[in-house]
Amino acid sequence: MVKAISEQMSARQPYVSSIPLGAQGFTTGAIFCSDGRFADQVDDFLHNGLGLPGYDRLAVAGGPACFAGHFLAYREEEGAVSHLKFLSRLHGLTRLILISHEGCGFYRDFLRVREFDLIQKQYEDLVRAARRVREAAGHLEIEAHFARIVDGTVQFEQIAV
Ligand SMILES: [Zn+2]
Repeated sequence: MVKAISEQMSARQPYVSSIPLGAQGFTTGAIFCSDGRFADQVDDFLHNGLGLPGYDRLAVAGGPACFAGHFLAYREEEGAVSHLKFLSRLHGLTRLILISHEGCGFYRDFLRVREFDLIQKQYEDLVRAARRVREAAGHLEIEAHFARIVDGTVQFEQIAV
């Protein structure tokens, strides 16, 4: 089995990305949902909407929901807090951006939030998540955004936290 994999790997040329290695020295982190439908839009928003040259990313199902104190997501919270502290120490993060998105499957399926309550619940969770992050890493400046689906586009609105 090992031989087969090694033969397969040697037969394939390495793929070289046309995108050069990213900037260094940034001190912003962002946590958002792992839902791939929003990946490019989140990156676009952080780079072009907020003008960030680079950022550390924490992509987890539900994004900031893991900091909102849901009993069902206590393992996710432990993991996310640990990762956040690690990145803070390693890269000296000073700012954290929380991003939730409309139609999040983590809320519908994992947390079983009713469709009717969903967006209100996500707004409240952004406030809760900001509070929790301040407890865990008080030095971080926190801001929150909600990614809304409008006519096939994704619009980011800032939420006061
Ligand atoms: Zn999601």
